[in-house]
Amino acid sequence: MAKTRKLKFKAEVNKLLDILVHSLYTNREIFMRELISNASDALDKVRFELTRGTDVADADIPLEIEITVDEEKKKITIRDSGIGMDEDEIITNLGTVAKSGSEAFLKMLSENQDAQKEESVSSIIGKFGVGFYSVFMVAEKVTVTSRSFKKEAPAMRWISSGMGSFNVEKLEEEIQRGTTIEIQLREETSEYANADRLKEIVKKHSNFVNFPIKMDGEKINTIRALWREPKFKIKKEEYDEFYKFLTHDFQEPLDTLHVAIDAPVQFNALVFFPKQIMDMFGTLREDRGLDLYVNGVLIQHKNKDLIPEYMAFCKGLVESPDIPLNISRETLQENRVIQKISSALVKQILNHLAKMAKDDPEKYAEFWKEHGKVFKFGYTDYANKDKFAELLRFNSSAMKTADEMTSLAEYVERMKEEQKDIFYLTGASREAIESDPHLEMFRRKGIEVLYLYEPVDEFALNGLMKYKDHDLKAVEQADVSTLEKIKDDGKQEEKAEELSDADEKIFKKLLERMKEILGDRVTEVRESKRLHDSASCLVNPDGSMTSHMHKMMQMMNKDTSAPQKVMEVNKNHPLTRNLLKIYKKDPRDSFIEESVEQMYEAALLLEGYLTDPHRLVNRLNKMLEQSSGWHPAVK
Ligand code: ADP
Ligand code: MG
Repeated sequence: MAKTRKLKFKAEVNKLLDILVHSLYTNREIFMRELISNASDALDKVRFELTRGTDVADADIPLEIEITVDEEKKKITIRDSGIGMDEDEIITNLGTVAKSGSEAFLKMLSENQDAQKEESVSSIIGKFGVGFYSVFMVAEKVTVTSRSFKKEAPAMRWISSGMGSFNVEKLEEEIQRGTTIEIQLREETSEYANADRLKEIVKKHSNFVNFPIKMDGEKINTIRALWREPKFKIKKEEYDEFYKFLTHDFQEPLDTLHVAIDAPVQFNALVFFPKQIMDMFGTLREDRGLDLYVNGVLIQHKNKDLIPEYMAFCKGLVESPDIPLNISRETLQENRVIQKISSALVKQILNHLAKMAKDDPEKYAEFWKEHGKVFKFGYTDYANKDKFAELLRFNSSAMKTADEMTSLAEYVERMKEEQKDIFYLTGASREAIESDPHLEMFRRKGIEVLYLYEPVDEFALNGLMKYKDHDLKAVEQADVSTLEKIKDDGKQEEKAEELSDADEKIFKKLLERMKEILGDRVTEVRESKRLHDSASCLVNPDGSMTSHMHKMMQMMNKDTSAPQKVMEVNKNHPLTRNLLKIYKKDPRDSFIEESVEQMYEAALLLEGYLTDPHRLVNRLNKMLEQSSGWHPAVK
């Protein structure tokens, strides 16, 4: 006598089941898609074994899926002749193993409680590796009967009503290879026990499944390998439908790329650019990849070597006859053909994006907004450096809002005649960047500056070093003497009064005094050519990395010390002129010391290096107290 074992679901599975049964009401029909997708996976797996000559049970039976309905008894049965499950597999796969995704899925459910989002929730359930459990959205009881492809494995039966536990038993009788899932519907979901309704659901979600899906002996899906068909025969709607089938996305893709290449390797590929990427857990890069087919056989789901990380948002598949069918998944990685396909495909994708940017800038802007963050990491793809650079987009001082973007090519067109370099400045926001004293000179000269908001932007520009003949430089690295030669833009502001020769000399002395006050905290105190509105700023000793880059390095090293910089002083600023007067009276006046400390710490604060603001604030308050004494009402 076969004995039945009663086993408990893993805790997360229980939580998940509870939510599926009690709070997801819309779009329940997707349980069919999930079960059919599992059946199709199982068929792909057995076909893979068959092509490699594995000794498979029932090797001759057709690879297919069969659906039957009993309208009276409110029962649906889905049978496949796939790879099946043995005793261990059925227990772990359907209940006791905590899938890495289940926790993530639960978290997402708890964060997306409003009903509107249910559509997207049910559309992504399959992505978390918990698709099977969606059957409990409609089932009162589920019976899974399975026979593994391994000849000696006994047939198994698994029964559950989705509440806390399931029963498993070994079957005495011999059954055919594959898996049968019997669903006893609940009263309120009995609408699904209807052949027409089921056909409609299968057509909608599972039309492109690569194996026949039969109902009443009739095949109801369209098996089409779209990627092998000539492009002109395929309608946009068909690509879109295929994309939805492949990704379970409920929106159509932003764009589709279909390629057929003959040399140096032969392959066909379908690459989709999603409108939106669901990357709530930052798993996009890990989860990337394109499905790999050889002669109609799925060799690997989401092969990562076909697509580089910076194109992780691309979905789709590749088929090539140049890969041996019996290749093992381990050796796939070193396979030269895969590498060749990947490099050809990357070029195709870059060309496609370039064309999109040219022909349909609005669509490209949409692409950039959604995928730019990931795409920017392509600066490490040296082989495609030039193509990549053309695709970058930035906000800049020539744009009126933070949403507008420019390409490097457009920037170059707007460059000043005498300007050689392309300039950028990094900051947290447009406001932060625009209040940076380093920008003053550029504003005065009307020289455009790219605004970078993300760490990767600066890495990308640093990595490229040049665009065409132009060096890419942070504004603080600009060579001020060459910029000086570019004449001021438009309106001439009033010039400050020139200093007498004698005062010039005293100004030099004042700078020396300032250096004395700051000591080793700065490398030098010098007159600034770049400032106009501010009294002083800190700059890097020539050629060294930008403060933004430096700060990132420090963060990685948990270092909080301020770097040694050059302090530049604006000779024409009223504060400097006043200090000059004070200095002439008494070079040791303590007001000079306090002002210099204040100027220095304020500059540090702006650059994000000031770790303790107490001294700055105390000094500021003291100065305020003093200066209030000068107010006419007080005097
Ligand atoms: P996923 O399909 O993402 O792995 P599911 O929850 O849909 O997650 O399925 C869990 C696992 O159960 C599958 O990975 C597979 O091992 C097994 N399984 C489910 N249905 C079948 C089936 N029809 N044939 C063979 N194995 C199956
Ligand atoms: Mg599944």
